[in-house]
Amino acid sequence: MEPLKNNDHFIHFESGLAPLNDILAEKKYSKVFVFADSNTAEICLPVFREFLPELENFDIIETDPGEENKNIDFCIGIWKTLLDFEADRKCLMINLGGGVITDMGGFIASTYKRGIDFINIPTTLLSQVDASVGGKTGIDIDNVKNMVGTFSLPQAVFIENAFLQTLPQRELLSGFAEMIKHGLIADATYYQQLKDSDYTNISAAAIYHSVKIKNEVVLADPLEKGLRKILNFGHTIGHAVEGYALVNDKKPLTHGEAIAIGMICEAHLSAKYCNLSQDELTEVASYILSLYPKYHIKPKSFEDLMVLMQSDKKNEDGFIMFSLLDQIGKCVFNCKVTKEDIFNSLMYYN
Ligand code: ADP
Ligand code: ZN
Repeated sequence: MEPLKNNDHFIHFESGLAPLNDILAEKKYSKVFVFADSNTAEICLPVFREFLPELENFDIIETDPGEENKNIDFCIGIWKTLLDFEADRKCLMINLGGGVITDMGGFIASTYKRGIDFINIPTTLLSQVDASVGGKTGIDIDNVKNMVGTFSLPQAVFIENAFLQTLPQRELLSGFAEMIKHGLIADATYYQQLKDSDYTNISAAAIYHSVKIKNEVVLADPLEKGLRKILNFGHTIGHAVEGYALVNDKKPLTHGEAIAIGMICEAHLSAKYCNLSQDELTEVASYILSLYPKYHIKPKSFEDLMVLMQSDKKNEDGFIMFSLLDQIGKCVFNCKVTKEDIFNSLMYYN
């Protein structure tokens, strides 16, 4: 598969990490670190070593898994570890893991001694199709996601289906929601192909297609001034539901499960504010409901969800802004929606 170009780096697919050898030979890094969480250190590091037996000299920096550990305290620990290893500005950090590792590893690398090189090897479907493109790094502050971070580009990204073989089904479905989103916002044919496919056996070709869609959008609008906002379809309500479930439920939702709910609600808004037809709405809602477990949103939580939506980074002049579907495969951004209609869309999901 042809690599995709993003600015001056490449996103490589099914390359067996071979181009990583070339980068190492060319850049002559003073030291190489692999940053992983305890799961990916155990499960993905052996696969990494198998791909790259030539790379013998590297140190492993391990952290605890999970979004709750994507915070400044862990960063401080890792910056100190880098100092203990006498890491200078000519060293390389390879982030091997899901979105938590690539977001936090990218942030640590982009700030350590004002920035060292890093390479991302996303090992979850979600991080392969989403966090792998766009140069956003970040950490959470008090459970508010990605409150602090940088726009920093990696030296390269490697997407390998081999890493997905060990991923639990729930994590696969989480990433699949973003793929459905890519079809809905930009490519009706691709959406149909996903519908006809089996999410438990996602093809490298489908992953490639999703990354290509995201890459094109991000290149056209790297700093999210306009077009890039279409990637937020399903996320205005989805992020609020995700944050609410995290604080109030014993069994929080995955990102994809929350975005699935958000896409149904925002498809409902799309039928009211844009040109999405009733048939398309019904079709999208029933497809998503067939994949994701039903989650009941208590009407008494609606006000709390509004508060969460009001703190969304995309808002302008106090309005909650939505990216909505004009039809399947076409998305428009900067749609102002009333609170009443947001509540109606939550009722529609329920
Ligand atoms: P994301 O934001 O991409 O979902 P996380 O970094 O939170 O990513 O990863 C989700 C969970 O999956 C974590 O517990 C992580 O350790 C684990 N994980 C990541 N990659 C793999 C893999 N290839 N196989 C099994 N588990 C994995
Ligand atoms: Zn998302």
